[in-house]
Order: sequence, then structure tokens, then C-alpha cells
Amino acid sequence: MRVTFYGVRGSFPVAHPKVTKVGGNTSCVAVRAPGAPTLVFDAGTGTRQLGRDLMAAEFGDGQGEGAFLFSHTHWDHIQGFMYFEPFFRAGNRFTVCARGSHDRRLRQVFAGQADRSYFSFGLDAFKAQVDWRAVQEDETFTIGPWKVSTVRLNHPGIAVGYRIELGGKSFIYMTDTAPYDDQLLSEGFHVRRPDEDPEIVAKIRAHGAALERFVVGADLLLYDTFFTQEQYAQNPHWGHSTPEEGIRLARQGGVGRFVFFHHHPEAWDDELEARVADTARRLGGRDLEVGLAREGESVEL
Ligand SMILES: [Zn+2]
Ligand SMILES: [Zn+2]
Repeated sequence: MRVTFYGVRGSFPVAHPKVTKVGGNTSCVAVRAPGAPTLVFDAGTGTRQLGRDLMAAEFGDGQGEGAFLFSHTHWDHIQGFMYFEPFFRAGNRFTVCARGSHDRRLRQVFAGQADRSYFSFGLDAFKAQVDWRAVQEDETFTIGPWKVSTVRLNHPGIAVGYRIELGGKSFIYMTDTAPYDDQLLSEGFHVRRPDEDPEIVAKIRAHGAALERFVVGADLLLYDTFFTQEQYAQNPHWGHSTPEEGIRLARQGGVGRFVFFHHHPEAWDDELEARVADTARRLGGRDLEVGLAREGESVEL
């Protein structure tokens, strides 16, 4: 499988001379394998360029098949959705998967962002066939030959992480999550401290253990490295993590390769490169490769 980064930024897209090497578009990652539907993780502003690339091949002929797998539906993960060209070519087929209670409500979430107050046209302008699939945390299902599993992440409103497997290789998309250390972020944006409630302590531990099991043996872990440790200490309730926590998880699970993702909008190229190099030197090694997601680059598994 080939994993390509189209948007690597978190929170807000950035256009600035100091982000040209890493890229300023928000979260969008495509995974392709011969003869399998194209998988798209999140639809931030990077999705526009992905759509253009896909139109050059079978999606331009109305013969493309793909699926969107959403971590959650915060702005930085959906802003490119209505700008995805293959939706406007008849014959293409897509399944849109996101955490939700049922398929119809999920469609309404996306119809909401295309409401007349916010956009020029609605979902009924799509010419491609689009099916909606509400997914739950801790679920396993298939999309063509792909095996897909989900896990609950620690984020305001809850996000999900995905693990996909094909031909003995595995990729994990895990973004928008705080560590499961001393807080549980959930629906309604509540932050609960464990010393207040032993039931919450047990839940945090259980979710943390589930995450550790989820990553075991993965070839590539793409992870939310939005914060430095100092920034995390200031805003733990934002629901983002650090390279140190991601690498702890990767090492515990024997992951082969760890990649920084969902970069802070104010993390400039030279700063990000220095952080990755420093982290690789301190915490990487021959058994764990440490890298940086840059827009336009791919990883072959
Ligand atoms: Zn985000
Ligand atoms: Zn978010």
C-alpha cells in the first residue's frame, strides 16, 4: 500500500513562507493499493489536491471507487469535503465513514456544513454515488480487500483512530487525541480528573490499554504530535498529544515507523525538522524509525 500526505496541519490551514517545505493544508491522507478502493483519511483542505490527482486516473472517467474514513468532523478535518472533484463525476462510488449513531444522522452532519448559510450548493449536487456509514469505536469491518478497525481517542466530542491491513501490512491513522493519563474527554467537552471519581480512573485506564493493544505490530503509526510537552501541560483539555507519548505507544507495541502529524499551525518548517531530528536521536533507533509527514510525500509499505 502507498500512504500519501495531502494535508498534514492541525486546527487551521496556513499559507506562509515558513511552511512551504512541510505544507500548510489541514488533515487529509490517501492510501492506495492496486485493485483496491482508495481510502481517504479525513477531508481537510488537502482534499482538494487529492481530488485533482484522482481525476487524472479512473475517477476522471467515472470509474473510481473509494471510502472516506473520518477521525471526527471538526473543521480542520472536513473543510475540503465540498471541494473534492470526484464527487461531481457520475459513476464514481464512495462510502463515507465517521463515528455516529446512525447513517442518516451522519449524512445530516455533512449536509449541515453545505447548508445555504455556509456554502453555495448542497450534497444533492454530487453526481457520484455516496453512501453513509456510521461507525462505532472498537469495530472491525471490511472495505473491499481492506480490513479496517477502529478505536476510541481522547478528544472533545470523541474522535476515532483507524487501523487498516492489507497483504500483511498495516497502517494506523491516529490523530486528535490527548494521552489517556489523567483526563477523559468525551461528548459535551467534559474533563474529569481521576482523583474525583474512581469510575473515571478505571475508564481512562481501560481506554489507554485498548489503545496500546490497537497499535501492536503496526508497520506505520501516523500520530497527533500537535503539542510539545510544555504546550500540552498548558492546554491538556484541547485533546492533542506529544511526540513523547506517541513514541511511548509505538515502542510498547513494537511499531516499525512513527510519523509526526497534525502539526501546529505555528510550527514552522525549521522548528518541525529540528524537533523530529531531536526526537529521533533521543527516542528513535534501528527498531523504530521516526519521521515527519510532509505534504505531497508518500510512504510505501
Ligand atoms: Zn484536528
Ligand atoms: Zn478536533
